[in-house]
Amino acid sequence: MVNNPKSIFTIDVEDYYHVTEERGEPPVSKWDELPSIVEKGFYALLELLDQNQVKATCFFLGYIANRFPHLVREAQKRGHEIGSHGMYHRIIYKMSRDEFYQDCLNSKQILEDISGEKVECFRSPSFSFTTSTPWFYEVLAQIGFVSDSSLFPVKRDFGGFATDNIKPHWITAESGRICEFPISVAPLFGKDICFFGGGYLRLFPLKVILHMHRKLSRQGIPTMFYIHPREIYPQHPRLKMNWSNYFKAYVNMHSVQSKLQAILQSSSFVTCHEYMRTELKEI
Ligand SMILES: [Zn+2]
Repeated sequence: MVNNPKSIFTIDVEDYYHVTEERGEPPVSKWDELPSIVEKGFYALLELLDQNQVKATCFFLGYIANRFPHLVREAQKRGHEIGSHGMYHRIIYKMSRDEFYQDCLNSKQILEDISGEKVECFRSPSFSFTTSTPWFYEVLAQIGFVSDSSLFPVKRDFGGFATDNIKPHWITAESGRICEFPISVAPLFGKDICFFGGGYLRLFPLKVILHMHRKLSRQGIPTMFYIHPREIYPQHPRLKMNWSNYFKAYVNMHSVQSKLQAILQSSSFVTCHEYMRTELKEI
């Protein structure tokens, strides 16, 4: 059992078709007509977290919260932190500053109305915060967020922001400070790679994931894990996409349950809010 540093487990609460436009995400106008598996997947994740007595930060898409408000209440009842994943899963660098402000504010208000609590943590769809969105943190601070987990510290399909700063750290914007929780990466053959969420977690063997997790822990870096409800519900409908995107979206779906079980037992976990309170001692 690794005691320090605490790790962070997060869920992006969205449906199976929220895969970004480039990978075949249907337009928002069609969403209401589509079958949904978010309840099945999310409840399965909540059960797994309960079994392992782990509290997570759940980044809800505003659209999902609106359609399934009981999921927000259920997560809250079980002691998890409610965060925002934006309103309509829009890529940040494809929005103007004003569009981002509105999308972000809508999701925050919906989540606060449902939960009756302040929602203070944000994660952008597809980690799409980049150097072309210099207003990103300022907008979050203006709206009243105090933390974010959108920084993917290496280049990837939908952005990424190359930096060596992979520990939680403070960003000072004009309207306030934001605590950034970067997505974890670890070096393999001289290249920083993520092993700890989504397609990366499905692709790499459990032994490698746990080895890299321990490596970060020894350096005092908390590992940030992330997963989506569809990934624990392998029978969800498949979208049409090219071979490479299909591989990334659906590889090793059946490995997720057992990998998560082992990961959740490998460390002690806190939410982003708890990490700020207990580890950074700043709130
Ligand atoms: Zn997402």
